[in-house]
Order: sequence, then C-alpha cells, then structure tokens
Amino acid sequence: MLQELKEDVFRANIELVKHGLVIFTWGNVSAICRSQGLVVIKPSGVSYDTMTANDMVIIDLDGKIVDGKLKPSSDTPTHLALYKAFPNIGGVVHTHSTYATAWAQAGRDIPNIGTTHSDYFKEAIPCTRAMTQDEIMGNAYELETGNVIIETFREMNPDYTPGVIVNNHGPFTWGKDAFDAIHNSVVLEQIAKMAAISMSVNPKSGMNKHLIEKHFSRKHGPNSYYGQK
Ligand SMILES: [Zn+2]
Repeated sequence: MLQELKEDVFRANIELVKHGLVIFTWGNVSAICRSQGLVVIKPSGVSYDTMTANDMVIIDLDGKIVDGKLKPSSDTPTHLALYKAFPNIGGVVHTHSTYATAWAQAGRDIPNIGTTHSDYFKEAIPCTRAMTQDEIMGNAYELETGNVIIETFREMNPDYTPGVIVNNHGPFTWGKDAFDAIHNSVVLEQIAKMAAISMSVNPKSGMNKHLIEKHFSRKHGPNSYYGQK
C-alpha cells in the first residue's frame, strides 16, 4: 500500500541526517497522497540506522492508522493540521536544526535580508506567537502547535513562504512533496545561519523590496525564468 510514497518518505528522512539537520531520532518527514487522503509519516523514536521503508506508518487525515506496525511520530497531529489547512502542499518536515531553532528560541522572525532568502521564501520566516498554558497543557499540544502555525499564516501565503519557526521550539517547512520540503528545510537552516551572522555584524541589516521581488519572481510564478525550461 502506497509503497512508492513509503520509499520516498523513508529516503527523505535519511536525507535529513545527511544534511546534518537532525541528531538521534529528532526530526520527522511526512508526505500526503491527496487522491486517497492518506499520509505517510516516520514512526516515533526509531533510530535512523535501523529504520526501513516498511517502518513508515500510513494514517488517514484523522490520524487513524491505516497501515503499519509502529506508532507514528508524536508530531503527527501538527503535520495533519498543516495538510488540512494548506491545500497545495505534499510534504512536511520538522527539525530542531541549530540556527533556525536559535531564532525560534529568541522569538524572532528570520528577516529577509538577502537574495538567497528571497529565492525561496518571499517574506520573513515568521516566528509564531508563544503558545498559551491551555494550548500546552491540554491534551492536544501537537494539534495546537499546528493551529498556531495556521494562525500565523492567516495573512500570508504558505506557497510563497513555505516555512515557519514555532516559538521556543523550531522549524517546520513544507513543499510540493517530501523532497521539496527537505530542500526548503536545508535552505531555511542556511538562511537562518546567514541572517544570524548578518544581524550580529549589523543589527540594522535590511533589503530593498524590489530586490526581494526580483529574486522571488524569477524562480516562482508566471514569469519565472531561472533554471532550464
Ligand atoms: Zn520538535
């Protein structure tokens, strides 16, 4: 069942390790089959060294296990909330990568102050508001984490800015599939690092909005011209 998607999600999880974004069993990747309304996600707490494609868990959008022997990632309700709210996304990645998490712990948006950022993310990477005591202590913490991300994007286009940092926690990224979401996760960590250094060199670092528009639109949208046709 969904064997190809299981292989993809497995390989995408391994990519996280290769790119140095996770240690131990931290981090998780999922992908969705929109036509069947089913999600494939990494199992909870299984070592990357011994994990296989068949350990991936298939769930429906309510979180019910459809196929798999292991428990799905504890962050599953966050992933499901994002798939329901953002209809164009096909993959979600969560890590505690160092620089992106450092901005999250500082409670600061990652400002768009360079063309690398603008090539992938149109706006600053938003940092969510801090979660309330009820959201944290209730029985749906991971779902509430998804809800606070969705709230953050009320006035933003998740297709133009495919990532967020959750306050005091860390980054979630998404994309058209699991590998696109991984790509965005790697880029997010890199721009978080570059922004941290820029802001320490010059706390007033900024960027002209025309340069942002130029770099974003040459890779995205109807008039894009970057790369091969
Ligand atoms: Zn986490």
